Amino acid sequence: MEKLADCKEIIHNCSKCGLCQSVCPIYKITGNDCSVSRGQFIMLKGLIKGDLKMSKTINRYLDLCLKCGACSKFCPSGIDVVDVITLAKAEYFKQHFFEKIISLFQKFCLSGLYTIKKIIPKKKSETFEKKVIYFAGCGECVGVNVGVNAGVNGVNGVNGIVKIMNSLGVEVITPDFHCCGIPFFSRGDIDNFKEHMNYFYNVLNKYGDYEIVTTCASCEMVLKSYSKWGGKEIKVKNIFEYIRENNLTFELKEPLKVTFHKPCHINNYDDIKWILDNTKNLEYIEMADFDKCCGLNGVTKLSEYKILSKLYKEKHDSIIKTNAKIVLTSCVGCKIALSLFSFAKYKVMNLTEFFVSKTK
Ligand code: SF4
Ligand code: SF4
Repeated sequence: MEKLADCKEIIHNCSKCGLCQSVCPIYKITGNDCSVSRGQFIMLKGLIKGDLKMSKTINRYLDLCLKCGACSKFCPSGIDVVDVITLAKAEYFKQHFFEKIISLFQKFCLSGLYTIKKIIPKKKSETFEKKVIYFAGCGECVGVNVGVNAGVNGVNGVNGIVKIMNSLGVEVITPDFHCCGIPFFSRGDIDNFKEHMNYFYNVLNKYGDYEIVTTCASCEMVLKSYSKWGGKEIKVKNIFEYIRENNLTFELKEPLKVTFHKPCHINNYDDIKWILDNTKNLEYIEMADFDKCCGLNGVTKLSEYKILSKLYKEKHDSIIKTNAKIVLTSCVGCKIALSLFSFAKYKVMNLTEFFVSKTK
């Protein structure tokens, strides 16, 4: 699929059953059918037929979608809602010059991250028979740790992975990848998304055909999706799969109570739960709706603050009720969103960063 018109058949498969309404976090707040896939598909059908024209109003509804994919998991017609909505966003993107300015700004900010990444010293991995390539993404080792969570240094990201993987007898290659491209994809800027995808393959080609390991759920999801956008199939695994496969267990230096926010983009929660259950000195308290979207996709949408603040408040209240002072997650984006609305009541940490800094 390259453009919205290519989604005609997919949209046609929507049976209007409304099951998506029962799981969509935004529909639950707005009660407006235009903010959930069923209603959006009716609008998009009108766009494809030419009965409707792309407008700010339609784009507003497309933007309200958090791209969490919760509806797709329940959709009896198996529709990948996020791809369809992204291609609709691409129509808006093409027609609006200001969107291109935002992309330029995003590229400028990301280039700053790449510069910082280059100057952070990486721990040299020990040499073992088995090798993997680590995709750190743009935020795991630099942006989030430096920008949002002062006090946790950016070295933890990459060096923590090296330490964990070496303990499993695996050598880690750490190329200078750039961002996976998700910020552009979410805004319908397909050209810049593909530019990032192509950069990834150019870097990858300089190394062997090794498995790629990630620690961020969103990076993992995007890398796995490249083949849908013209990239070749690649083997991508999350570090938590390695840890469980190898029965690696941890022991905390002191007893700690933690809770966990499940990112929408992970599909290996079982591995993470196994790790949490098998960590000595760790008390895991499950928060209510631990798998509900953090709302990151709405963080910059100040005009929708009334709707989105309800979402953030629900998540914040669920965390507070656990009495845990540490919230773990496994996605850089979720860490940003949860940290922004933590109001210093708890600390949000990525799992790898937590295990590297808190274990014996
Ligand atoms: S769950 Fe799927 S088929 Fe049902 S209304 Fe929503 S998008 Fe359409
Ligand atoms: S992707 Fe998430 S926010 Fe978007 S329509 Fe589906 S459930 Fe709602």
